[in-house]
Amino acid sequence: MRKYNGRSTVLVMGGAGFLGSHVCDRLIAQGHHVICADNFFTGTKDNIEHLLDHPRFELVRHDVSLPLYVEVDEIYNLACPASPVHYQHDPVQTTKTSVIGAINMLGLAKRTHARIMQASTSEVYGDPAYHPQPEGYWGNVNPIGPRSCYDEGKRCAETLFFDYHRQYNVDIRVCRIFNTYGPRMHPNDGRVVSNFIVQALKGQPITVYGKGQQTRSFCYVDDLVEGFVRFMALEGPCPGPINLGNPGEFTILSLARQVIELTGSKSRIVFADLPVDDPVRRRPDITLAQEKLNWEPTVQLGEGLKKTITYFDKLLTRVTATHDA
Ligand code: NAD
Ligand code: UDP
Ligand code: UDP
Repeated sequence: MRKYNGRSTVLVMGGAGFLGSHVCDRLIAQGHHVICADNFFTGTKDNIEHLLDHPRFELVRHDVSLPLYVEVDEIYNLACPASPVHYQHDPVQTTKTSVIGAINMLGLAKRTHARIMQASTSEVYGDPAYHPQPEGYWGNVNPIGPRSCYDEGKRCAETLFFDYHRQYNVDIRVCRIFNTYGPRMHPNDGRVVSNFIVQALKGQPITVYGKGQQTRSFCYVDDLVEGFVRFMALEGPCPGPINLGNPGEFTILSLARQVIELTGSKSRIVFADLPVDDPVRRRPDITLAQEKLNWEPTVQLGEGLKKTITYFDKLLTRVTATHDA
């Protein structure tokens, strides 16, 4: 890999989003030059405001479905709305973002000989028939449902990554991310952790979809970013895919109860309709990540929720103060 004074220039596409902004922080701390590109669909300048004056940080407004010509050593492709509410808002654009975006980022990686990571997802397993899900499982995805723009877009992006690898020898890293949470999640993006915390802090009813017996496994953002960085640092061809997530599995109802307890909220739980094609259960098999990256999550759900609650508490206080001013 090309390095100038021991430092790389890294493009973080989707860098103003929740995960992307934490990746930018980590790369700056490691001494790299960071080009953060984003179209601000779900990301915000607030997430990276503290980096704007940093001499090794550059922000570019850019849509990944358009070509981008920059000189880089590494690329993290995180550009794609991640919450069901946002990715279903303009499903055609969601598929374009994943598929055309992957082609553009892979074309860029091919020209510059950059190592490139794709933020794929546990959604490639759909509503899984195997539990927990290992990387060798091909998935159970509805190709024509309301979630398909995201799931099939990400699956096609994986196909493109592996074909650019086989056909053009591009140095790819595909990681399949399982539900990740933490500070800088969008307060209104509809994901379960942000919804429950914001509802609890505002004293509003906690909206559990279905009976709340569906399960998810929640990874704290710092653990995930550690996994990204270790994956990108491996030398030699190691395309993956590798699952990154926390194997601790919880029902959505138990998550609701835990958030109520940790916030000390008086909110009550209400039940609403389960969205179409909502996966019944999800939990990563992380054996491969343990073996290849010597990685596993270290932050327990309660500990991660406390940090996330502190973040949203400050955010909501700031918003209220601004409205009152
Ligand atoms: P996010 O919505 O906060 O971040 C996505 C970022 O991409 C935002 O800044 C958004 O503005 C940007 N973006 C969207 N469309 C774009 C486009 N066309 N061009 C340029 N930028 C665009 O979500 P996140 O949770 O940070 O997710 C980041 C990546 O990780 C996504 O690709 C997502 O699919 C993947 N992922 C996340 C999770 C999770 O639990 N957080 C799980 C699986 C996969
Ligand atoms: N591309 C880009 N930046 C680059 C090189 C390529 O954005 O530095 C985009 C460009 O839109 C191109 C796509 O990546 O169409 C795929 O590149 P590739 O070289 O695979 O194919 P091309 O279409 O150029 O034959
Ligand atoms: N969910 C819920 N209440 C909410 C938001 C989500 O019960 O206010 C449920 C949702 O139906 C799903 C789980 O929580 O079963 C995780 O939803 P999220 O949108 O966070 O992620 P994904 O479904 O993509 O895993």
